[in-house]
Amino acid sequence: MQYILNYTEAPDSATLAGYERAGGYRGFRKALGLEPAAVIDIVKKSGLRGRGGAGFPTGMKWLFAFHDPKTPKYLLCNADEGEPGTFKDRRILEKAPHLLIEGMLIAARALKAEQGYIYLRGEYPAARKILELAIAEAYEKGYLGENVMGSGGRFHLSICRNAGAYICGEETALINSLEGKRGQPRLKPPFPVSVGAFGKPTVVNNVETLANLPFIMEAGPEAYLKIGNPQCPGNKLFPVSGHVDRPGLYELPMGTPLKEIIHNHAGGVKGGKALKAVIPGGISAPVLTADMTDCPMDFISLPRYGSMLGSGAVMVFDETTCMVKVAWRALKFFEYESCGKCTPCREGTGWLRTVLERIEAGGGRHSDIALLEDICNNIIGKTFCPLGDGAAFAALNFIKHFRADFEAHMGGRCPYENSAKSPGAGSGRPAA
Ligand code: SF4
Repeated sequence: MQYILNYTEAPDSATLAGYERAGGYRGFRKALGLEPAAVIDIVKKSGLRGRGGAGFPTGMKWLFAFHDPKTPKYLLCNADEGEPGTFKDRRILEKAPHLLIEGMLIAARALKAEQGYIYLRGEYPAARKILELAIAEAYEKGYLGENVMGSGGRFHLSICRNAGAYICGEETALINSLEGKRGQPRLKPPFPVSVGAFGKPTVVNNVETLANLPFIMEAGPEAYLKIGNPQCPGNKLFPVSGHVDRPGLYELPMGTPLKEIIHNHAGGVKGGKALKAVIPGGISAPVLTADMTDCPMDFISLPRYGSMLGSGAVMVFDETTCMVKVAWRALKFFEYESCGKCTPCREGTGWLRTVLERIEAGGGRHSDIALLEDICNNIIGKTFCPLGDGAAFAALNFIKHFRADFEAHMGGRCPYENSAKSPGAGSGRPAA
């Protein structure tokens, strides 16, 4: 059963009329009749975990901010969807913006927040226009404003656009950016639920997390707990890309096995080729091999396979893929997006990219694999935010699972067609 994507598929789904015809705003109306503590209790009982990557229990996060005596409290929606391979929040933003607004209204009711911000990825200009129209409609109808639906409470909502920095998806960097400061992470603690935007208690929730709330409020926590598995209930949006027959966005219960997503929903590996590797949660999630795809896709199971759910973005690679090239491209991304605040990440991601580029271009030395591992081990646990660790763990796992690909490059040229001349060119089958 879909309770998110169904709204994106309804006629006129981006308009208030279309959203209400499809059943929208019923969850918020129910929340409006409850005390804030009761709304938090429902979300806590539902077991909802944040869908932004960390999987922290949403109700618990809210409670920290709720009990903090400082006012005002702020609600921020993290719509800075910049993880490579991830295109799930975009569907909600462009096709069902009122689902997000309703989710924010429910969260604001629980937190007694009177001001919310949608921190939007700068590269989503279409989403911005659609959101602006939806927010104007919600003000017109009385869902937003000074006297929300005659309740006496107020909630105002604004959009803040990112200028294109991946690191601003990290919640404290996001808050700095929102405040007009340099978009770099802050030291934690204090956590944003206590000292967040403008020094006040602030809850930052991802778009998909907020899009779960209308269903939880309407159907109740017991119904929600019946979906997925008890430790990670509910549905998850899985964007699937790469070498599959049917790339796209799939809404499935948490815990759906990875192989079921690839083979049953995304149509299997393109052209009948063999599966070589899968990145299960966006580029920061360590790569898995083909024989690890029995893994249930949830926050608890993936760490047992040495990876993480992350954004849930599944990237599929067939047998013709050069994994050195994939690793090189991943590190090129991390180097570019490192904010430069701490040395191990700023310098380390660049060194990793340099060595990988050398190997892929045919100049690799036999000592390079150990060098890569050494650089990774000098990054892990020594960086200010998770970007540095993510880059190093990603690189280490490419070596761990595909060492043969790395060793095969040491003969001088990439064993995959077209790769030796240009690391950016498409890869082919290994040369005989
Ligand atoms: Fe910036 Fe990287 Fe350090 Fe994070 S780990 S603060 S992105 S330099």
